[in-house]
Amino acid sequence: MASIKITLPDGSVKEFPKGTTPVEVATSISEGLARNVISASFNDKIVEVVTPLEENGSLVLYTWRDDNGKRAFWHSSSHVVAQALEELYPGIKLTIGPPIENGFYYDVDFGEHSVSDKDFPAIEKRAMEIARGKHEFKMRPVSKQDALSFYQGQGNEYKIELIEGLEDGDITFCDHDTFTDLCRGGHIPNTGFIKALKILNVAGAYWRGDENNKQLTRVYGISFPKQKELTEYLHLLEEAKKRDHRKIGKEMELFTFSSMVGQGLPLWLPKGADLRQRLEQFLNKAQKKAGYEMVITPHIGQKELYVTSGHYAKYGEDSFQPINTPKDSEEFLLKPMNCPHHIEIFKSKPWSYRDLPKRYAEFGTVYRYEQSGELHGLTRVRGFTQDDAHIFCTPDQLSEEFKNVIDLSVYVLSSLGFEDYVTQVSVRDPENPEKYLGSPENWDKAEQAIIDAAEEKGINFKIEKGEAAFYGPKLDFMIKDALGRKWQLGTIQVDYNLPERFELTYKGADNELHQPVMIHRAPFGSMERFMALLLEHTGGNFPLWLTPEQAVILPVSEKYEKYAEKVLNSLENHEIRALVDKRNETVGKKIREAEVQKIPFMLVVGEKEEEKGTIAVRRHGGEDLGSIAVAAFADLVEKEISSTLKSF
Ligand SMILES: [Zn+2]
Ligand SMILES: [Zn+2]
Repeated sequence: MASIKITLPDGSVKEFPKGTTPVEVATSISEGLARNVISASFNDKIVEVVTPLEENGSLVLYTWRDDNGKRAFWHSSSHVVAQALEELYPGIKLTIGPPIENGFYYDVDFGEHSVSDKDFPAIEKRAMEIARGKHEFKMRPVSKQDALSFYQGQGNEYKIELIEGLEDGDITFCDHDTFTDLCRGGHIPNTGFIKALKILNVAGAYWRGDENNKQLTRVYGISFPKQKELTEYLHLLEEAKKRDHRKIGKEMELFTFSSMVGQGLPLWLPKGADLRQRLEQFLNKAQKKAGYEMVITPHIGQKELYVTSGHYAKYGEDSFQPINTPKDSEEFLLKPMNCPHHIEIFKSKPWSYRDLPKRYAEFGTVYRYEQSGELHGLTRVRGFTQDDAHIFCTPDQLSEEFKNVIDLSVYVLSSLGFEDYVTQVSVRDPENPEKYLGSPENWDKAEQAIIDAAEEKGINFKIEKGEAAFYGPKLDFMIKDALGRKWQLGTIQVDYNLPERFELTYKGADNELHQPVMIHRAPFGSMERFMALLLEHTGGNFPLWLTPEQAVILPVSEKYEKYAEKVLNSLENHEIRALVDKRNETVGKKIREAEVQKIPFMLVVGEKEEEKGTIAVRRHGGEDLGSIAVAAFADLVEKEISSTLKSF
């Protein structure tokens, strides 16, 4: 019998009889692996775990732990839910049902039926019955004609439209139990792997995302290989709802939006502005130590500036349109990026290699048009402020600069309580060198500099080939928040393009003119998005050094207001941010409100406290720290702050 050579991800090559399936390969490695394999890719193409392998190639096996495993799991689950829907609502028309980041959906034309929350249990029940039947998913090729007549028989114009866009010979159906679906493949071995399934919600969705088309019902669901994982997921969803930054931001009076000002344009309220300023001061202080210089640039610039930078080509047509002036020939743009402005600052005088690196930092506000449907709280807005900086250096300085930026980024993250992050180094696609701007030697140098820097700094990173922008390699920080959700944060981007477009130069040791390299970097990304992340990560319980008010003083009656003022005074002397709540309300009510505002400490003062010169300290959340002297409280605050906020 002929044999084939299978290369596994660890580089090992094993020989198997021709026609061996991925799950058989798994069995040859271990029984445990075979039980857990739910999907596979062969020569970079997703295959079924039971697809016979007919040629030499590289095989990757996926379990639930892999993104591709989850994709297969949820894709298969969407077939199961589709079957349940078809049985429960005869005559409905199924359209598409892909896996998404968390779960899957199916877009359905329900015809005269309608579906709401109260129907979910019945759908889940039937789907789980099907799951328990352990039905195998079987792929089969069909001719275009047969595929069309299958769906003509059902009167399903959506699937017909999909099939019409496919090549004859490329069409496959997937069968399981009594159900058949148009499908490209990538399934778990059988429905029995699905041990828990939940319909999450329904929403309207236009066929093919086009609002001129018919509105369908999008049924969202999620499924898991263990009941326990579903329970945990639902708990997480609840928590996420509680921590929605839009909700907490409102409760804490940090920011608001106004339809008069315009959608997607956040208004920072006094407390939010105070908080943001504190963040900016914190970064400024560290940046100063790291050798950055602050610059300030306008919110608009001539269109020509962005044409030169290439940003007009990227943002122009699809973003805010040029601003005209009474003078016909003038056109300005709201700036979509700060880089061109900083470049013009660099160009304002000649530089020698001895002057470099130059590091210009600015909290620069930029404007980009986002579709109103895409806007979301502070995470997707139309005007936002980047904690931007641009470093202009010689190619030889790149490595050192990169390390410094990593140090700064890691410092920023740890000061804000983010310990769980990974980084991705995006490098060239070695197969397509012509796609990239700049000399291969410089690219080699830059990529190596980034990898060396990441290694030296001991940060967790993975290298992604082909993910670099055409103008330079980069390193991205991905944060995991308290609920385990991933957020893409600051990027450190090397750039050979803009120095070329703007013809930047410096005089080298050889007295010749050379082109500097640019690094773009923003540890927070943008102040708005970072605030959203911080709110959802901490649930509004900011690190003590950052929080707007660190303490609120609550006199038990008007009689003790004078003493409260005295306490406030001495707290201020200790540089503690506090206020006195003098409203004519009960202490109980004031405490409840301070809880909602997430003020870390509530200091109750009454007769006993005044007599002894103390304060009764209650922590946010309810912990009673007893009556202590103001100086002792100041010590406690200072210790807590210095445990998170180290100096850079
Ligand atoms: Zn399928
Ligand atoms: Zn930039």
